Amino acid sequence: MRRAKHLIQIEGRSILSRAAGALLGSSAEEVVVVLAPGDREGVSALGALELRGVRVVFAESPDEGRAASVRAGVRATAPGAAGLLIALADQPFLEAADFDALIRAFGAGAGGIVHAAYAGERGTPVLFAARYREELLALRGREGGRVVILRHPGEVCAVALDPARGRDLDRPEDLLVSRSMQRTLSIIKPDAIAAGKLGGILQHIEDAGLRIVAMRMLHLTPERAQEFYAVHRERPFYQGLVAFMSSGPVVVSVLEGPDAIAHYRTVMGATNPEEAEAGTIRKLYATDVERNACHGSDGPETAEEEIAFFF
Ligand code: UDP
Ligand code: MG
Repeated sequence: MRRAKHLIQIEGRSILSRAAGALLGSSAEEVVVVLAPGDREGVSALGALELRGVRVVFAESPDEGRAASVRAGVRATAPGAAGLLIALADQPFLEAADFDALIRAFGAGAGGIVHAAYAGERGTPVLFAARYREELLALRGREGGRVVILRHPGEVCAVALDPARGRDLDRPEDLLVSRSMQRTLSIIKPDAIAAGKLGGILQHIEDAGLRIVAMRMLHLTPERAQEFYAVHRERPFYQGLVAFMSSGPVVVSVLEGPDAIAHYRTVMGATNPEEAEAGTIRKLYATDVERNACHGSDGPETAEEEIAFFF
């Protein structure tokens, strides 16, 4: 199944979580995220943001179009709110300061409807005064806030925002600009193979949106392990690491995807499993800081060298 757009990752974070995080950092009093009914992946993409106050509601009818989302969001906000700011998950580069610029203009009485403008063109987010609540709740089908804006031309005020930060991911070319395709080297280490976790880890990698484009099982000699980890030659853990890496078979693979290098490091989690985030490969499968289940390249140059080392 195609991965839903709001779960697309940029620098290891879903665009949904980026947008909700920026709103949470703004002066907005409450942040409500509207998801399609039953979108559990969307809920988990928000992760800790929910604990920090982001509220999740579900649109009533997923097939209706955007009006159902607007209505669900408006209905979920406190009745006493002075205004309703409507933002989209697919503008992942907007920052808290951008939302604050709209809120400030609204607070200063610029107009009953304050919208972002990019190089003179109207865009989102849009902030509606509370008096438009009923009109927003009356939207149907594919209608969006635009319908309400067009009805009240005298009330509308534009706040210019940086077009680079406001760009959305509606067009495939936007995605290419923001997420460069990369390849990275992965090693499933001897501890994980011995524990029968190879299949689970490969599944985890694929579920994270990384494509396995080459793969081999092999047994590193101590000399090859020394060579692979030569950058750590002077480190106290080097001898132990070499002995461990040559203690049993490993599976080396090349992973491909948008921002694959940083993305795979996020998917793996911190080197020390005690510090790794919940749900990461190392948290789930590693034993300790040495026997930590997997390796991933740490930058474009090392990725190139490490792929050439094995393939
Ligand atoms: N390692 C270790 N002790 C340490 C740090 C690292 O045994 O204190 C091992 C561990 O297996 C780690 C590898 O050495 O994956 C390479 O270390 P690095 O700091 O490059 O971590 P990584 O890039 O793998 O997260
Ligand atoms: Mg490393």
